[in-house]
Amino acid sequence: MKPAFALLLLALSALACTPADPMIGHTEITKFQGNKKGAISITYDDGIINQLTIAKPIMDSLGLPGTFYIITGKVEGSCKGKFIGRDPQEIISETAKIKTDSSNFFERASLIAFTGTSEAEDYHARAGSLFEQGKVAEAHALIDEGYAKIRQGTMKDTDEVVFHNNVEDTTTWEQYKAYSAQGHEIASHTVTHPRLAALDEVNLMYELEQSKADLLKFIGPESTFSAEGPYGTENERVMEYAHTVYPALRNRMPEDWLEEINRGSKMTPGQSTKEYVQWQRGPVTRIDIHQMKAWVDTVMTHDNNWLVLVIHGVENLGWEPKTRPELVEYFSYMKAKEADLWVATFRDVTKYLRERKATQVSSKVEKDVINLSLSSTLDPGVYSVPLTLKTYIPADWTSVQLTQTGKSRSLEIQQDELGAFVSYEIKPGSEAVSLNRGS
Ligand SMILES: [Zn+2]
Repeated sequence: MKPAFALLLLALSALACTPADPMIGHTEITKFQGNKKGAISITYDDGIINQLTIAKPIMDSLGLPGTFYIITGKVEGSCKGKFIGRDPQEIISETAKIKTDSSNFFERASLIAFTGTSEAEDYHARAGSLFEQGKVAEAHALIDEGYAKIRQGTMKDTDEVVFHNNVEDTTTWEQYKAYSAQGHEIASHTVTHPRLAALDEVNLMYELEQSKADLLKFIGPESTFSAEGPYGTENERVMEYAHTVYPALRNRMPEDWLEEINRGSKMTPGQSTKEYVQWQRGPVTRIDIHQMKAWVDTVMTHDNNWLVLVIHGVENLGWEPKTRPELVEYFSYMKAKEADLWVATFRDVTKYLRERKATQVSSKVEKDVINLSLSSTLDPGVYSVPLTLKTYIPADWTSVQLTQTGKSRSLEIQQDELGAFVSYEIKPGSEAVSLNRGS
């Protein structure tokens, strides 16, 4: 064999055996929708009227959705808070003879909030707070003190406004339903805003289930996905019950791949090694706008952060209020960074993350076409937030058509260090997709 011919054969066989670029057809579900660097959920607690009349219009003008955790018992037409159990008079007279201990604490702490005065409601809240701090003996003693006042008839209605029960809060179910239709999430913050950890089982379940039932009745299933137990509780017993009623809780999530940094924690998102970090921050009155903006900037420096803002008061109403100008400046700051940030409801971010973790993508590369199919273990009726897919394509494709259920659209070709790719959104549970080389 002549050397030149041998060389030619060698070159030909090398060409034939060159494996296709392994990246071609490689498809991943991006960490956040829209292939953004991070996510932000803006959440509000307690159904304070100014959240809806001041903060919400600012968000609407910028096209940002919010999550509003409302106290359903405050809304006209829904089931009110109540004590479920034995005859209250029987329980009250027992308190004269039997001291509060762990066998009767939950029942007494459940009842005291419904004995008719705001001072008694405050006893419930304070006893619950002590209990959650592990000051159990103090909690028992406070309940004894409260019932002594009830028996003596000295418990009063105080003038002090209880922040979660302002008479100004007059939002109707019709309004909430309209807000939900606009893309906001209206969700549960229980019926009466109790210290759930201090309630007995039947009253605890009523607060969770009745609130959910009213949200379902007056708005729809989209309002029954996520919830927030009052006072940011992370009490084990409460979490166990609450997770049987709601698929997601802002208090705490069940996922082991999600780091949760609560509002009081000094841990920074960069300190976590988990796949996702949910970073909760409370823009309370003393936190200035520079600090608030720095949280957004931090999200932009990572690729796995989900900043969850917890807002209470707005202007002159509610706990630790923020002013209108501060909110305008803050939300506008986020809007300006929207190319890199996905601002979405707590519900939708939760769904996206779970969908991404539960979905398998398979791709098959053929001549001029890449066929893709998705399979997931989640119910697509509930988990319906569109997933963003990123598929690498051959370098010589100059245009790409995406075809699904007979419909076609062209995709923009992008480039990163691994090659040419297209990105597109697919609804979970939808039919197979093909990417075709354009002509
Ligand atoms: Zn609250």
